[in-house]
Amino acid sequence: MDTERSTQFSMVHDILHEQYGVDPILIDQEILRHHNAEVIVHPCKWENCTMHVAVEHKQVSKHLQHHHHINTSATSGGTEQIPCLWTGCSAYMKPGNLTRHMLTHLGVRWICSNCEGSLSRDDAFRRHALERPNCQHAKAVIKYGNGSFAIDTAYLNGGWSATQNVMCIP
Ligand SMILES: [Zn+2]
Ligand SMILES: [Zn+2]
Ligand SMILES: [Zn+2]
Repeated sequence: MDTERSTQFSMVHDILHEQYGVDPILIDQEILRHHNAEVIVHPCKWENCTMHVAVEHKQVSKHLQHHHHINTSATSGGTEQIPCLWTGCSAYMKPGNLTRHMLTHLGVRWICSNCEGSLSRDDAFRRHALERPNCQHAKAVIKYGNGSFAIDTAYLNGGWSATQNVMCIP
């Protein structure tokens, strides 16, 4: 962020904080490029993170790359296990597996439209559908976890929304 932008950022931050009495909800500006109506977000409880992350694979991956400096690409070739720094978690894993792991922290579930089975990962749902003849043509219904909520991105003109107490991080 250049100086002018960061001054503007802290001004807006102060205005929102004064209006609401709590810190604004911080989201990645990148989210706006992919959502023109509504996005479901959840607080990121990664060590020292003060942002909210969009509850979807692609955006979680970008968030981990841009804000936590982790190369989440499955083909990154990194075989070294790294720690998950989510509050209360002590898991280690390859960086390429971290995005899906993060989604389990965000509490999102894939519910089978046929048997209502609840799966914690999209790949687990696909396996479920393959393994159960009756669920072959089932669809996954996404259910969001506690603490998730919707932000209307249509009102984030200029990168912030006074009505929702939201600010975008460039
Ligand atoms: Zn974070
Ligand atoms: Zn974890
Ligand atoms: Zn099923």
